[in-house]
Amino acid sequence: MSEEKGKCIFCKIIRGEVPASTVYEDEKVISFLDIMPANKGHCLIVPKTHYPRIEKAPEELLAHMMIVAKKLGKAQSLAMGTKSYNLLLNNGEEAGQVVEHIHLHVIPRFNRKRLKLDWNHLNYKEGEMSEVKNNIKKFM
Ligand code: 5GP
Ligand code: ZN
Repeated sequence: MSEEKGKCIFCKIIRGEVPASTVYEDEKVISFLDIMPANKGHCLIVPKTHYPRIEKAPEELLAHMMIVAKKLGKAQSLAMGTKSYNLLLNNGEEAGQVVEHIHLHVIPRFNRKRLKLDWNHLNYKEGEMSEVKNNIKKFM
């Protein structure tokens, strides 16, 4: 086991060394309440294997996280009295990832206020959109 895995707070929760308010668990993932929620009921879906970023995680596992998000989103909505939620995965430090063990946020929404990604809408310059599109396509 690497030092990262040993120290990782989510690995400690998975190993039962740190308590968590678990709402769901299967052989691949665990889901528990975020300790500092964006809204009450905010959950995290966390693979039981330590992967720092999604690039290293098997595709089936990532697909499974989304399947669990569908089930959990419904349960969360019923429990919290809403029907809306955001799914968010911060992949990398610049994207806001703090815990380096991948996790999908399931955040219940009661209105459009209170939760904002720091997001200024930009405009492409003439021809720039096509250039960006071609650059992304090149690496797909
Ligand atoms: P990130 O910014 O990495 O996408 O999100 C990490 C999330 O983990 C944060 O929302 C934070 O509140 C949550 N978190 C950090 N430490 C703990 C902990 O010990 N227990 C629980 N339940 N959540 C935690
Ligand atoms: Zn971990």
